[in-house]
Parts: sequence; C-alpha cells; structure tokens
Amino acid sequence: MSTTEIQASSTADDQSVPQLPNHKVKLKKHLQRSCNEKDEKGKLCGGHLKRWFYAKDVVEKKCGDIERAYGTGAEIYRCEHCKTIYLPNPQDPRVNVAGAGMISVFGLTIPPKDAK
Ligand SMILES: [Zn+2]
Repeated sequence: MSTTEIQASSTADDQSVPQLPNHKVKLKKHLQRSCNEKDEKGKLCGGHLKRWFYAKDVVEKKCGDIERAYGTGAEIYRCEHCKTIYLPNPQDPRVNVAGAGMISVFGLTIPPKDAK
C-alpha cells in the first residue's frame, strides 16, 4: 500500500499561508531570524524577526486580525522593519535543540523509512 506521494515544492521560497486582511503573513523558514521580504526593487528587507506580543499592542487591539485568526497567546513574530507577520515554522526546534534534520516538508510529516 505504499503509494509514493512526492510533493514537489518547486518554489520553496514562498509557502502560502492564509493572509489576514490587514497584515501580510509569511511562514518563518527553518531557523530564520531576519526578514526575507523584498521591496519593489527586489531588495531584501533584512529586518529582525521579533516575537510580537500582539495581545498587548494597542494598534493591533483595534485591528484584531491576529487575535481572531490565532487566538490570544499564539507565537507570532514580526519584522521590526516592514511589519510583516511571521508564523513560527513547525520545523523550528522548541524544546529539543538536538536537530533531527530535515524530516518533513511543510504541513506534512514524513515517517522515517526504517523504523526499528
Ligand atoms: Zn521586513
């Protein structure tokens, strides 16, 4: 029953995440720390991605987009420069830092081939 499903992610550059009406939303790449958003001239933004506590942000409280989409306590990052919102990458290590390597593609976890 092994149907090999290979998801060819031709452009691994821009993974599509649901956009919010008032924010540009991107998915943080594995271990990404700076913004890779490009401006009209194709220049990389390079701003730092910082954890953003939107629930305490006065402006965001009025907007409310993020809270509606992700709840009040979600882990959200934001570029300090262009304000693009970044969602944490599921591959990013949270507790266990000993990396297991790239074992999954976005949204799809692939079981190791030879499980003991
Ligand atoms: Zn940026």
